[in-house]
Amino acid sequence: MNIKDLKALIQDVPDFPKKGIVFKDITPLLADPKGFAAVIEGLIAPFQQMGIQIVAGVESRGFLLAPAMAARLGAGIVPLRKKGKLPRKVHSASYDLEYGTDSIEAHADAFPRNSRVLLVDDVLATGGTAAAATSLIKALGGQLVGSAFLIELAFLNGRKKLAGQNIHSLLTY
Ligand code: AMP
Repeated sequence: MNIKDLKALIQDVPDFPKKGIVFKDITPLLADPKGFAAVIEGLIAPFQQMGIQIVAGVESRGFLLAPAMAARLGAGIVPLRKKGKLPRKVHSASYDLEYGTDSIEAHADAFPRNSRVLLVDDVLATGGTAAAATSLIKALGGQLVGSAFLIELAFLNGRKKLAGQNIHSLLTY
């Protein structure tokens, strides 16, 4: 499947969850067997020879991508969760969303020292979420090798918040 085919399986939903936001609904793309395979292969492609040990997925839609990517890379997964979900000692980082504010948490012992980590989320919008995820991974001793996004909304300049990082986005708008 080429980029055009993949984009055709994403549905734009205007004014969700707030007026003025065009929500990128990736569920039809994930439900398509060829589309899903192309997404996973495309997301891992630049990182295959990079010794990734952990794929860290951002709640919630990063959780739909991280496990399949990790299995292909021979890595484990770490969920970066919304506040209050993890049962043991956590470290947290807060951020602004394209809509609203939130914080994400990981267990304090989630990343072995200098473990090679690949961050994944569905959408890079303003970059706030990814910047928080990045600081969380680094604060907990992980070595951030790169970040992979299914979609980058380039007009929101999220990359600016991730200066110096190895960023890979599959579909750009
Ligand atoms: P940001 O922190 O602004 O980069 O926003 C990224 C996070 O918000 C990701 O976890 C996305 O799931 C979600 N998100 C932001 N904008 C959109 C959008 N237009 N469509 C779908 N999800 C979005």
